[in-house]
Amino acid sequence: MWLAMLNRLKTQNRLIKFGVKVNGTCCLCDVHPENCQHLFFDCKIDRHCLLEVKNWLNWHAQTSNLPQLIRWIGKARISKFKKKVLAAATAALVYSLWKSKIAVIWKKSLINPARIIEDIKGTLKIQIAMFMPRKVKNINRDWVFAL
Ligand SMILES: [Zn+2]
Repeated sequence: MWLAMLNRLKTQNRLIKFGVKVNGTCCLCDVHPENCQHLFFDCKIDRHCLLEVKNWLNWHAQTSNLPQLIRWIGKARISKFKKKVLAAATAALVYSLWKSKIAVIWKKSLINPARIIEDIKGTLKIQIAMFMPRKVKNINRDWVFAL
């Protein structure tokens, strides 16, 4: 997650800088140049997944930019619990997209947005079950149990 935030993941634009021969286009859409922002949030596949996750969580942030999303979570007037859930969802999204990219490159598998979204939801539900604090306001408890 921090590597994505700092734009340090080995995306194709960074590999080209290091002299590695790659074609430079995004492995998910095969259209746009691949960099961190594109790979995680600008690609149409990512936008679709992020929108689905936002709708699922009833999350009204307008931005799809990773640092801005993290800032939004920090500044939002929502409970600490909800902030943790949204941060975990963002991390799960980045991780699932990265795993999908690896699978596309190494296993030549096809990108499956529905599977990515299910992966994110599954990861988040497990994290919530494991780290749910004992004292949670009813409104937050209802929100989480409705997911
Ligand atoms: Zn793309």
